[in-house]
Amino acid sequence: MTSDRPTALWIKDPLAIRADGAERGIVLRGGRIAELVPAGRSPATADTKIFEAGEHVVLPGLINTHHHFYQTLTRAVPAALDRELFPWLTALYPVWARLTPEALDLAMTLAMAELMLSGCTTTTDHHYVFPAGTEDGIDIEVAAAKRLGLRVLLTRGSMNLSQRDGGLPPDSVVQDEDTILADSERVVARYHESGPDAMVQIALAPCSPFSVTTSLMRSTAALAQRLGVRLHTHLAETEDENRYCQEVYHCRPLDYLDECGWLNERVWLAHGIHFNAGEIERLAVAGTAISHCPCSNQVLASGACPVCALEEAGVRVGIGVDGSASNDASNLMQEVRAAFLLQRSRYGVKVSHKDALRWATKGSAACTGRSDIGEIAVGAMADLALFKLDELRFSGSGDPLAALVLCGAYRADRVMVGGNWVVENGQIPGLDLGDLIRRHSAAARRLQA
Ligand SMILES: [Zn+2]
Repeated sequence: MTSDRPTALWIKDPLAIRADGAERGIVLRGGRIAELVPAGRSPATADTKIFEAGEHVVLPGLINTHHHFYQTLTRAVPAALDRELFPWLTALYPVWARLTPEALDLAMTLAMAELMLSGCTTTTDHHYVFPAGTEDGIDIEVAAAKRLGLRVLLTRGSMNLSQRDGGLPPDSVVQDEDTILADSERVVARYHESGPDAMVQIALAPCSPFSVTTSLMRSTAALAQRLGVRLHTHLAETEDENRYCQEVYHCRPLDYLDECGWLNERVWLAHGIHFNAGEIERLAVAGTAISHCPCSNQVLASGACPVCALEEAGVRVGIGVDGSASNDASNLMQEVRAAFLLQRSRYGVKVSHKDALRWATKGSAACTGRSDIGEIAVGAMADLALFKLDELRFSGSGDPLAALVLCGAYRADRVMVGGNWVVENGQIPGLDLGDLIRRHSAAARRLQA
């Protein structure tokens, strides 16, 4: 599903580009950005093919740092509407327990397609439910990502603390610690690429303090260190979680994380809402990053991540759409706008559209532990999102970059990953979206029946 890669390609004379000194565009070669072309100049690179970008606003590809692809099958489920996190989860666990490999494949393909069409070039996924028959869930999503040409950091998630042992999930969706660790090691060995231009990476991701044992938290951290992979989990999402940790572990969630060997630069955390000032300092010192998920946090009435306080302390912050049962969309460009609005309402006009774009690119890259994505710079991967401003919503706009955020861009015209066009003219070449929607909808109806 990729087009031929030319020797060098000049993205010429963009309407606007989010890079300084690239007014005449950029030259791409070998899957990377080879040259920025300043105003009044032509490329130093010889024999470039040309892509005329006069109608396009060019961004570094957006990076999604938190998702649960399988949840695209349970959007707007009536039983889960108007509930906060714990009762919302309790309503959905029994539905998720009925996942099949076919449904998973459709859910993962659809979630990634939706992300790509919104300008996403790298995504993470936190897959933590492995009901019987879907033990190869990570294998299914690696295959789907490779078919689509999307860059991914997939996390082998886990839950092993069920209701029987004082946790929140039912027995039907948890696995035992030995099974989880063995499969974690298997998928890292099989799929994780450690090179700077990696297309598939694996991280390890126990789900939350209320669905995973302390033993599994510790053993997963040790395994990640031994294998040299990143660690991810949900933390500080709700006041319910604070109460659970106080009652069960007699400390706050961040203290618990620290006790489990998780407060370090290998870790990025989803949500990070309910931190106090001392905890924010500890995160900064540790180098632990945060994935801000504004839509999910608003739908579940969880609160608002203190993004400016985190950044001022030195904590790196990225953007995540979170699962499609609590967003309920997988549109990363819309998530940028949501982050801008939520953080501006909290911190005032010092938050600009440029901040929101930075969170979803450089900030998100930091969450993934990568320095080769998230910006338009010489040597960075040729991961780009190109938007047109030819719809009603943009008519009359002045600043093209601000218009993307303020007028509500939601669909990229073109997306490039590693020098390959994976979205052209608003379509994913080779993917029949109508057929995918029909099959995915049917799978969702069967699951929810
Ligand atoms: Zn989540």
